Amino acid sequence: GPLLEVRDLHVTYGAGTRAVRGVDLTLSAGQKLGIAGESGCGKSTLALALLRLLPASARLSGEILLDGEDVLTMKWGRLRAVRWAGASIVFQGAMHSLNPVHRVGEQIAEPVLLHSGSTAAAARRRAGDLLEQVGLPAGRADAYPHELSGGQRQRVMIAMALACDPRLIVADEPTTALDVMIQAQILRLIEQLVADKDISLLMISHDLSVLADTCDRLAVMYAGRVVEEGPADEVFTDA
Ligand code: ADP
Ligand code: ADP
Repeated sequence: GPLLEVRDLHVTYGAGTRAVRGVDLTLSAGQKLGIAGESGCGKSTLALALLRLLPASARLSGEILLDGEDVLTMKWGRLRAVRWAGASIVFQGAMHSLNPVHRVGEQIAEPVLLHSGSTAAAARRRAGDLLEQVGLPAGRADAYPHELSGGQRQRVMIAMALACDPRLIVADEPTTALDVMIQAQILRLIEQLVADKDISLLMISHDLSVLADTCDRLAVMYAGRVVEEGPADEVFTDA
């Protein structure tokens, strides 16, 4: 079956905002699916729901099948294993999710330590390797986030997302906070890494040109629903 299958997903926030209103999506292994839609249409909510990273006030219904297993009903222990290793998320603006007071190498090593029985030294070596894979010298492991450029910080986030060899990467506006030149570099890096490592990609952006460059299928969201879905070139022709 497909790697990811979302069935009739609904998410309502505490105050009553119906952020996702019946989304169905299918992503086969090796596919790159783009999710487009204007700000506020529910894209980030969908991304966070995939790993149950929403605030406790959010109510969810439907199914999120990752490799056939429902993320919404799985036990905590299993969910912890699925986070980072089954799927991992690259968020917008790396400053958001990098801890400002920890060296970036330690932060990349964290999911490695969480998931494998590896020693701290082995996790540090892995962090260095991952930094090189995303185009930074391993020595930058000792840097703090504020000592890096925006593009370098986003490379660190990508390294962290790769830490546990996930089958799926969810990239939520991965280039939105960056200069146009750097955006293109980061998109090429993501494309190259998912191709080399055979990782499936769910890329979210309000910017259609970003998705057109990278994805083979496209879903367009509007007000919490997918209103159009198909091969990227067809969806663009209709737009
Ligand atoms: P997008 O990623 O497409 O910009 P979001 O998923 O962030 O959309 O938001 C969808 C809707 O849910 C918006 O109306 C937004 O204001 C609301 N929303 C998002 N996060 C929260 C939250 N933590 N609590 C309450 N409402 C939220
Ligand atoms: P905590 O402070 O408990 O780490 P977080 O909100 O940062 O809280 O993370 C909640 C859970 O989700 C943790 O198990 C964490 O390892 C996991 N997690 C955090 N960020 C990501 C991500 N980008 N991809 C996959 N799993 C993540």
